[in-house]
Amino acid sequence: MLQPTYTELLACPSCKSPLEAQGQRYVCQNEACQGMYPIQGGIPVLISEDNEIFSQQDFAREQDIYFRTYKSRLMQVLQKVQPDVSTNLSAARNYRFLARELASRKGLRILVIGGSIDGYGIGELKQNLPADALLVEADVSYGPNTKMIFDSHQIPFRDETFDLVVAQAVLEHVLDPFVCVAEMHRVLKTGGMVYAETPFMQQVHGGRYDFHRFTHLGHRRLFRHFVQVESGIVSGAGSALAWALKYVVTSFARNKKMDKVLSYSAPFLFFWVKYLDLLIGRTRGSLDSACGYFFMGRKEPGYVLSDKELLASYKGLRGNVN
Ligand SMILES: [Zn+2]
Repeated sequence: MLQPTYTELLACPSCKSPLEAQGQRYVCQNEACQGMYPIQGGIPVLISEDNEIFSQQDFAREQDIYFRTYKSRLMQVLQKVQPDVSTNLSAARNYRFLARELASRKGLRILVIGGSIDGYGIGELKQNLPADALLVEADVSYGPNTKMIFDSHQIPFRDETFDLVVAQAVLEHVLDPFVCVAEMHRVLKTGGMVYAETPFMQQVHGGRYDFHRFTHLGHRRLFRHFVQVESGIVSGAGSALAWALKYVVTSFARNKKMDKVLSYSAPFLFFWVKYLDLLIGRTRGSLDSACGYFFMGRKEPGYVLSDKELLASYKGLRGNVN
């Protein structure tokens, strides 16, 4: 469970009023709302009653909603030997940068959305946190890191709570990424940082919970209320091609069982294609063909990137370019 002092940082996911801990639940202090949120095996389930996708009942047992974090021994072994079809050229470096950038802050608070398991490279941040830092890893599934369950359309924290909010491979899986990013902006302190990685050229990978892809500029616009610190490629066209080859193979599947076999085997045939990224992952040409992008930004009062500025920021090589 979160340490009791953190209760004062929480807000009702529904009406954003303060919450009070009452035994094994949190209760909204707003008379008109009176939202109640269970604490399940030490993990607060801050899902509001009006949420259409998730219900508190979904989390009554440590079952999985979005993806399976608990697996059989055999599955664990099989997955360990299966090669990944994408590279990540940027995460480790970006997390090291963020760790340095935030190192001097007192009482550092970090929120990791989609944090039930470690995202690629996040160890570079987690290993370098000061002892008094608060790290909240939240998700809509129970995993080894899950400290809290919530839906990122309704982040259950008060305004200006965090120094850093991370959303690595998350925003493609939410119904309204603009709402989620607005929530991330709200819970960040002025001067707080945001870090996101989101796919562009990737096939469906979250079953029914997969809704969006972004170009480099589309991703920038999603974060237009943030000053850009840096943005760029997470994985390049080599990874995009490896993904595509894998999905050409799985397209032969006529049922779930066949898909399982094919999607497990295909990476063994094509994983090496991702290493093309070592050659082409950082070129200007690859800005239009990448597998995914990152955005790192800072919250500054009143800032918004105009669409004119957005267009002027295009660094790819297609069409009318400078
Ligand atoms: Zn409430």
